[in-house]
Amino acid sequence: MSVDFAKQVGPKALEYYEKFFDIKYPLPKQDMIAIPDFSAGAMENWGLITYREAYLLYDPEVSSKTSQHSVASVIAHELAHQWFGNLVTMKWWTDLWLNEGFATYMASLAVEALFPQWNSLQEEAAGNLLSVFSFDSLRTSHPVSSINSKTNTFYPKYI
Ligand SMILES: [Zn+2]
Repeated sequence: MSVDFAKQVGPKALEYYEKFFDIKYPLPKQDMIAIPDFSAGAMENWGLITYREAYLLYDPEVSSKTSQHSVASVIAHELAHQWFGNLVTMKWWTDLWLNEGFATYMASLAVEALFPQWNSLQEEAAGNLLSVFSFDSLRTSHPVSSINSKTNTFYPKYI
């Protein structure tokens, strides 16, 4: 497994967002690290994004195309959080959906722009919609803006 693909995707996604938002990324660099057994998929820490290995490492000899798409999509998602979540953030955790919703949407646009041959925009839109329907069908479904009443905290499904 290698970071070669991630090293291509990261800078291109940052450039895409800088042009899209017309706002330069303010830090002198953006580090990304794969952590064995990292429980979350990834975390958009300011200047140091942490990833589960499967979402940063890719080897064209042994990895699937689905894995390659996941790596590109998760990197694009976490880098989108540098704008939605880090530069601009919601007033309180009850509206975390704003961070996640826009980061997910922007990641779809970035992956489509970086890899137009994948035609992934419609697939991601349909996949995200089906995922929302799936969660919304559960008895444990909650409003988009919500606070867990037992602990007074909000637990997002995605980070
Ligand atoms: Zn996120």
